[in-house]
Amino acid sequence: MSICIKDQIQNMNLVIGCTVGCPYCYARNNTRRYHIIDDFEKPQFFQGKLRMMEKKKPQNFLLTGMSDLSGWHEEWREEVFNKIAENPQHQFLFLTKRPDLLSFETDLDNAWFGVTVTRKSELWRIDALRSNVKAKKYHVTFEPLFDDPGKVDLTGIDWIVVGTMTGAKSRTVKTDPGWAYSLTEQAHELNIPVFWKEDLVPIMGEEMIQEMPDAFNKVLEEQRIWNNQKSK
Ligand code: SF4
Repeated sequence: MSICIKDQIQNMNLVIGCTVGCPYCYARNNTRRYHIIDDFEKPQFFQGKLRMMEKKKPQNFLLTGMSDLSGWHEEWREEVFNKIAENPQHQFLFLTKRPDLLSFETDLDNAWFGVTVTRKSELWRIDALRSNVKAKKYHVTFEPLFDDPGKVDLTGIDWIVVGTMTGAKSRTVKTDPGWAYSLTEQAHELNIPVFWKEDLVPIMGEEMIQEMPDAFNKVLEEQRIWNNQKSK
């Protein structure tokens, strides 16, 4: 049985909008369909949502589900980082496809900085992340994986996620199981946990590898305790 990553990590869309322009972007389609903001190419910061971080019940949050960290203004980032520091009960993830545009340092213990890699020609993003973002935790999301990334330097990476194309195009564009196995072997050699997203079930079968970092598992365990106490 597979678990859905969205049950483990929830989106908190503090910023909506992105200029990266991926052709398969669901955030852009949804923003236009539901008219969430006027122009997806002009990211907006929803400062009021920062209050959601004050919840005492621990949670794992993805903060870039409808944006790219490279499109965040520096003052937004600083405000968000300050709030993260005040709320160590949660874990926070960021993703970018343009680590070459970033340059900062942070000593946050509960912030995870990652890049998306969809093909071999994008492996430079992992190097750029390690060089330009000096942080305590790194992750890489290989999704949707379009070709064989080959040998990957995962030094210093703390978690990888592997996924395939979803939606209408998933009928014609598929991740090869060999690419997912190769990434998994390379990560496991370095004791890096690996999470195959639930969309890979039709490709990889029911024996899914879905490992989370200890810090995320701790949050999920604390959530369970919290929920049990509430139901008593
Ligand atoms: S980086 Fe993310 S939010 Fe930006 S266009 Fe690509 S898929 Fe959409």
